[in-house]
Amino acid sequence: MPPKWNIVIAGGGIAGWLTASVLARLADAGIGTITVVESKGIDDSLGVPCTVQTTLPSTPSFLKRIGIDENVALRATQGSFTLGRAMSNWTGAAAPGFHAYGEIGASLGPVAFHQLVAKIRSGGEVVNLANYSVAALCAQSGRFARPSEDSRSVLSTMEYGLHLDSAAYTAFLKQDALALGVAVISGEIEGVELDDGGLIAALKTTGDQSIVGDLYIDCTGHSAKIIGQMPDCEFEDWSQWLPCNRAVSRSYAGNTPLPFTHVDAHSAGWQSFSSLQNQQGELFVYHGDSLPDLQSGDLPHMFTSGRRAKAWVGNCVAIGGAAAVIDPVASSQMALTENAITRLIGLLPHDRTCRIEAAEYNRQTREEHDCIFDFVALHYKANKRVGDPFWDACRNHAVPDRLAHRIAVYESCGRIVLYDGEIFEAASWVALYEALSVFPRRYDAMANGIDAGQMVEHLKQIRGVMLSAVGACPPLRDYLALQCAAPIYGKIK
Ligand SMILES: Cc1cc2nc3c(=O)[nH]c(=O)nc-3n(C[C@H](O)[C@H](O)[C@H](O)COP(=O)(O)OP(=O)(O)OC[C@H]3O[C@@H](n4cnc5c(N)ncnc54)[C@H](O)[C@@H]3O)c2cc1C
Repeated sequence: MPPKWNIVIAGGGIAGWLTASVLARLADAGIGTITVVESKGIDDSLGVPCTVQTTLPSTPSFLKRIGIDENVALRATQGSFTLGRAMSNWTGAAAPGFHAYGEIGASLGPVAFHQLVAKIRSGGEVVNLANYSVAALCAQSGRFARPSEDSRSVLSTMEYGLHLDSAAYTAFLKQDALALGVAVISGEIEGVELDDGGLIAALKTTGDQSIVGDLYIDCTGHSAKIIGQMPDCEFEDWSQWLPCNRAVSRSYAGNTPLPFTHVDAHSAGWQSFSSLQNQQGELFVYHGDSLPDLQSGDLPHMFTSGRRAKAWVGNCVAIGGAAAVIDPVASSQMALTENAITRLIGLLPHDRTCRIEAAEYNRQTREEHDCIFDFVALHYKANKRVGDPFWDACRNHAVPDRLAHRIAVYESCGRIVLYDGEIFEAASWVALYEALSVFPRRYDAMANGIDAGQMVEHLKQIRGVMLSAVGACPPLRDYLALQCAAPIYGKIK
C-alpha cells in the first residue's frame, strides 16, 4: 500500500481534471490529498483548443470503469456517438473508406475475414469490407444504439467512441473532481524548485507562491511546464513523419448529428467534422501557412507532433499533451490520457524516488507511443494523393523500420503485425489499410481449403443478418433524445 501522498496536478485541462477525478476515487484506499493548480484562462500561446473532443471506444469503457454515468456526461457536454471515421480524399478513389469501430465480418474456420475477401477479390469480385461491419452500416444509415451485451447478437460486434464539447467536458470533470474533495489553487506555474536529490520540492507560480507536494503530475499540455524542466525528458520531434503543425477549430449550429467522424484529406493536411447534439465541430489540421481558406477570426493553434523521452522522472509524471502531442487524425489522444492514468494507478510508488515504477511506466508508455505513432504515420506514408507536393513528400519520405515492416508484411500476405502497446486492434489496421488502398498481394493459403461458393454464402449471410439488425436500430437523433438529450436539445444554439 503506498503512503499517503500529497499529489499536485498542474494544469486544469481535460487531462488534469480527469486525472484528479480518477485519483480522488482512490481516497478510500488512502491516497492522500489531491490539488489541481489551474491557470485562469486558456493558454494563449497555444491558440484556441479543439471545440470537440473525439474519442475512441476506450472512453465509454473508461467512464464506466471509474463510475461516471455516460448518459450524465453526454447530457452535460452536448455529447454524441461516433461509430468510426469516414475517410475521404486520401486516395484517388471516389468512395470514402470507413474505419469502423468494432469487428468486420466473421472469420470462417481459421481464415480471417479480410483474407476471405482477398481471395474473393482475386477472382475479380468487388467487395467493400465496410459492408460487413455493423458500425459502418449504422453510420451509413444514420442509426445508432449501444452495442448489445448478448455476445450471440451481431449488434455486440460494434463499438463506439464519443464526441464531447471540449469546454463542457473540462467543466464536467472539474465539477466531479471538486465534489470528490479535490482542492484547487488558481495560479500560473513559472518553474520548479528541486531538492538536493533532484526531486521536485515545490512548484513556483508567477505570484511567487510555493506549492508543495510529494508527487507532481504535469498536465499543462503542450507547454509541458514541469516535465520540460526535468533531466532526460527532451522532446522527441516526430514532425518529419507527422508534418502537420497548425490546427484551426471552428464550430457552428447544426441539429442533425451524424454518428461518425468525417476525416477529409486536403492539399496540405486534413479536416474533420464531428457532431455534437446541436453543434458541428470542424478541425482543420495542416502544415505551415498553407490552409487554403483561412478566415478572419481563425486563430491557428501551433503544435509539433512528438513525445517526451521519459514521461516520468523523479517525482514528476506527465500525462496528456505534456507527455505526447500526436497529430489528432486518429482521435487517439484521449485514449493515451486514460491509459496513462490507469498505468499510474497500477504503479503508484512507495517512496518519493520512484525509480523502479518510473522505469516500468516509461517502458509501457514508449511502447504505446510507438504503436500509435505507427498508426497515425501510416495515414501520411500510405496516402495516394499523387501530384499534391505535400502528400508526395509524405509518401516518399522513409518511415522508421517498425512501420516499414508492418506495411511490408501486410502488402505481402495480409497479416497484421501487432505489438504489446497497441491501442488499435487488428480490425482497425485492416480498415485503415483499406481506406488508404493498401492491399495484400497474396491471401492466406488456408483460404484455398474453403469452397468458393461457401465463402460467398458466408458473406451473404453476414450481410443479411447485419442489415436486419441495423434496420432495427433507431435514428441517432431519436436515440439521443431518449437517452441523453442535453438541456438545449431540439433548439438551435
Ligand atoms: C492541434 C491539436 C488538435 C487537437 N484536436 C483534437 C480533436 O479534434 N479532438 C480530440 O479529441 N483531441 C484533439 N486534440 C487532443 C486534445 O487537445 C487533448 O486530448 C486535450 O486537450 C487534453 O489535453 P491536455 O489536458 O493534456 O492539455 P490542454 O487541453 O492543453 O490543457 C492544459 C492546461 O494546462 C494549463 N496550463 C498551461 N500552462 C500552465 C501553467 N504554466 N500554469 C498553470 N496551468 C497551465 C492550460 O491553461 C490548460 O488548462 C488535439 C491536440 C492538438 C495538439
